[in-house]
This record gives sequence, C-alpha cells and structure tokens, in this order.
Amino acid sequence: MEEYEFGSRLVSPEMNQGEGEEISLRPKTLEEYVGQEKVKENLRIYLEAAKRRGEPMDHILLYGPPGLGKTTLAGIVAQEMGVQIRITSGPAIEKPGDLAALLTNLQEGDVLFIDEIHRLSRQVEEVLYPALEDYALDIMIGKGPSAQSIRINLPRFTLIGATTRAGQITGPLRDRFGVLLKLELYSPQELSGIILRSANILGQPCTEEGALELAKCSRGTPRVANRMLKRVRDFAAVLADGNIDKETAKLALKRMDIDDLGLDEMDRSMLRAIIEMYGGGPVGLDTLAAALGEEAVTLEDVCEPYLMQMGFLTRTPRGRCATRLAWTHLGLELPKELDAANGQQSLFD
Ligand code: ADP
Repeated sequence: MEEYEFGSRLVSPEMNQGEGEEISLRPKTLEEYVGQEKVKENLRIYLEAAKRRGEPMDHILLYGPPGLGKTTLAGIVAQEMGVQIRITSGPAIEKPGDLAALLTNLQEGDVLFIDEIHRLSRQVEEVLYPALEDYALDIMIGKGPSAQSIRINLPRFTLIGATTRAGQITGPLRDRFGVLLKLELYSPQELSGIILRSANILGQPCTEEGALELAKCSRGTPRVANRMLKRVRDFAAVLADGNIDKETAKLALKRMDIDDLGLDEMDRSMLRAIIEMYGGGPVGLDTLAAALGEEAVTLEDVCEPYLMQMGFLTRTPRGRCATRLAWTHLGLELPKELDAANGQQSLFD
C-alpha cells in the first residue's frame, strides 16, 4: 500500500498550515453563510430574542465534522450581537489559570469560542461550570487548612463550543449549553454556491458547471471546496485560459488523483483495505487504522463521514463494512455470495 501523508491531503477537512487566506473567504453575516438552513433559521430567532432582551446569547454548542463552518458561525454570532470574539481551543487551555485569564479579560457580552471543547481537561472544565452558570469564578487561595475560596464575578459572556462529535463531551458540560446546533455535510449545490462566492472574492473566473464539478468532489465540506478552488486555479492558469470551466475542473481533478465521486487515494486505500485484507468487513476501526498506519480518530472524523454519506461504508456494532457500491466503484469483482445477495445488504448487517 502506498505511503500517504495525511496532514497535507488536499481533501482533508482540517486546516493545513498557511491557510490564513481563508479568513477573507469567511462569510461575515448569516445572509452570506450558505446552506445549513435549519441552523440559520433557529439561530436567527435566538439572536433576535437575545437582542430584544438586551442580554448576551445563551451558550451554544456546535457540532459536526471539521471544516463545515463552526468557527465561521461563531464569528457571525459575535458580529450580529455587535461584540468581540476571542478564539481558543480545548488543548490550548492547559491549566485552570489559563481559562481564568481568558475569562477575566472578556468584555460584557463578548463571545468566547472554544474549538475542540471535548479536549478540555477535567480541572479546567470544573472552573468553567460556575462561569457558565453564574458568570463567576471560584478561586482557591492558599493550601491546606488555611485555604480559602474566593468568588470573582465575570462579565456576562457567551461561550460557543465546537466539537466534531457531541458524544465526546461530558454530560455536565453539555447540559450547560442552552443551544445545541448540529452542522450537516453540504449538498453539491450548496458547495457550488460557496465556490462561486469564493471565486468572485478571489477574482477568479469560474463557470457554474466548473463550480459544480469541483463541488461534487468536495466531500460536503466548504473548507475542502475552497481549497479545491485554489488548487484548480493554478491548473486553469497554467494549462488553460485561466477560466475554470467544466473541462478544466475535470482535468485538474484527474491530475490531483481525485476520482469522479470525490474520493482520493486515502479513501480508496481505506476501502481497499477493508475489502482486500478483511473480505469486506466487519473490521474494527483500530485494526483498520493500524493496517493503514493512520490514527483511528482521523479515519473516523475525516474519511468515514464522507464514505458513509456516499454509501461506500457502513458502521456496525462489529466493525466497519464495505458495501457492494465500494466494490463496484473500485472496479473489483464482487464475491459470489455478495452478488447472490441481489441488492440486499443482509450480509453487511
Ligand atoms: P470549522 O470551524 O467547522 O472547522 P470553519 O468555520 O473554519 O470550519 O470553515 C472553513 C472555511 O469554509 C471557512 O474559512 C469559510 O471560508 C468556509 N465556509 C464554512 N462554512 C461556510 C458557509 N456556510 N458558507 C460559505 N463559506 C463557508
């Protein structure tokens, strides 16, 4: 199996190094934010209600795979409420003191955005509870019998937490969020809207068909769509007339080893491993990760959502299974017993 460096993957929904330019592509208002209609509709009402009451927004938990627009949405909430946003992440807050410093520096109404909130340590989480509930910090001073707890009042603020899976968050933390919003993968039409918007901002000519072609290969993820656009821009400039139309898009995708359903070499090797090494599954995620030399969590967060959405992979209590579609897509011959199942997935259940 081919060596594959995951971090620099074109279709990785995680942010690669040096992707600062994304900031200019970030929508700043709910109107500019494409798709996620249900989330936007609810958020609009909550924002309006909070504004009318003259109170900060309730704490919000955003969950969904990476690159779907959680940070962007947090920025929009701050913008709509007319407040500042501070951005940090679970692993960056190492000690309770780090969190205390962040909280005491907030202004009334500010938004604190904590990405990967499921990675906060227990100790830090405990400090967060009273901050969320009573806008207060309980700090212990001294040690042993003379230790004293003092309470510091905080400005009222809104915490926006983001996580890839809501199930990873402890119950007590989850219960302290008033609003839970789940972001879904985007449809090719929505992604094509995002690509056209970004192309416009970058001053890159792009036809609707060209955008749709890229959208179909963007794994339902705006971050991938934008990255795809930037790479294809290079192909368009060097190999074509600078315009991204259907042909240029197709040519570029082919050159980048991305197939017509948006799978790259990493996705294909995951499916191939399930099929060729484990007879189509079920195979446990950890076993599979070891076979591929990848981290289980990466496969789970990055490859699986898309492979499942495309119907190539199923998750069962006994492990991952490749579907007949996976066989067909990879051009492999379906084993007889699967062929005999005649369209039924009984073997995979
Ligand atoms: P997350 O925090 O979920 O990992 P981000 O908010 O950083 O994702 O979004 C990644 C990029 O995708 C952003 O820079 C933005 O340009 C783009 N993006 C995300 N969601 C949307 C959207 N709904 N409409 C337009 N662009 C979007």
